[in-house]
Amino acid sequence: MCIFCKIVNGEIPNNTILENEEFLSFYDINPAAKIHALIIPKKHYESFDDIQPELMANMTKFIHEVAQKLNVREDGYRLITNIKEHGGQEVPHLHFHLLAGEYVGRLVGNKK
Ligand code: AMP
Repeated sequence: MCIFCKIVNGEIPNNTILENEEFLSFYDINPAAKIHALIIPKKHYESFDDIQPELMANMTKFIHEVAQKLNVREDGYRLITNIKEHGGQEVPHLHFHLLAGEYVGRLVGNKK
């Protein structure tokens, strides 16, 4: 069983931000910004590349709720999902990183 499935079933503790029947959000153990949340579906999918588009409708709504709870919607945030080996994915369970709480720099385009 993957590490995020173990978090979902309570075998590994987590610092929960928000959850519902389908999704869970918790703080990343190794934060890359002042606020670093992870958002996962409770059901196991290896990556963004392995889901049906319909999942993203509910997941988008849930991510908005997490951003609301963290109070970052006004100042903004970055969402990242790493996909498989070339995408730098380490945990093979679909997750979005939500980085916020400060200016998090630019990954593509002109540097500010
Ligand atoms: P990725 O490289 O996109 O697969 O990201 C995996 C993320 O999971 C990393 O940012 C890790 O710090 C984070 N992580 C791994 N184990 C845990 C854990 N037990 N609790 C919270 N975050 C974790």
